[in-house]
Amino acid sequence: MAAPKDYYKILGVSENADAATIKRAYRELARKYHPDIGGKANEERFKDINEAYQVLSDPKKRQEYDRLRQGFAAREARRRGPGYQRVSFDWNDLGWGTDWGSLFEDLLGGGRWTTTGEAQRTRRAEAPEQTLTVTLEQVALGGRVYITVQELEPCPVCHGTNPDCARCQGLGQVTVPKKFEVTIPPGVEDGNVLRVGDHARLKVEVAPHPRFTRQGADLKGILMVSVPLAAAGGEVTVKPLVGDPVTVTVPRHTNAGTVLRLRGLGLPRRGGGPRGDLLLEVQLRFPEPFTAADDRLYQELLKNHSDDRGGEIHAPR
Ligand SMILES: [Zn+2]
Repeated sequence: MAAPKDYYKILGVSENADAATIKRAYRELARKYHPDIGGKANEERFKDINEAYQVLSDPKKRQEYDRLRQGFAAREARRRGPGYQRVSFDWNDLGWGTDWGSLFEDLLGGGRWTTTGEAQRTRRAEAPEQTLTVTLEQVALGGRVYITVQELEPCPVCHGTNPDCARCQGLGQVTVPKKFEVTIPPGVEDGNVLRVGDHARLKVEVAPHPRFTRQGADLKGILMVSVPLAAAGGEVTVKPLVGDPVTVTVPRHTNAGTVLRLRGLGLPRRGGGPRGDLLLEVQLRFPEPFTAADDRLYQELLKNHSDDRGGEIHAPR
């Protein structure tokens, strides 16, 4: 078997070159000798360059390579000495094949190319922030949604090695839409950020609800109650945010503005704890239809209370 290829020589770097130097050397050479540019003549050279980079850019592989290389050199020295005997050296002992896909992924995993060929930022830092609008019902129940993220991938045509590549405009990367399933945790709050791996950061925005507002884990709503019911007391049926309708007892002589608390009918708390409550503020309305006979009844009532006409003022809440 032939001597191991000199990967350092192929990349034109010294044996103690650091990772950044190796990467820089690789990029320059990979661009220069890419088959899309130099055609078939460059193919072997390009393969060697990539093979060299694959080994030298991986600290473990590089260490193994250095070890075998030194071993080979030692055996060469013995071979030339007295009692020479041919030593078999099987390069396949190194036990790796060329994995082009992961090679380029490793190289291009973060960032885009700049004109100087340096990759900027990592994918994590680059994960775009999107707004994820969720309904209050989704906050109550949790749920799953799908989002589409535009992700950068190594250019399938030039693999980031051709500044004149039409497919990627020389950026080395192309935009690919990717779909991800997102789990909405129950109790999620406005402004919370949900991470989808390294792919996206989703800033939660809870959509306004026609019947409820939210205050932490509590829900607030206005409960319309008819004047006679508020006076006499009784039951009303209300539809909470989620789940079956519930019966609410309105006590006798309930004033407008009274808040009825329905325990546990609010929202779950993110991370556990008791559910919030549903707070219903009573507003009064006249029953429909309100007849002439009803009017006469109220005239009677007013006569009975002509000494209490109200008229107090207090600041609005
Ligand atoms: Zn390209």
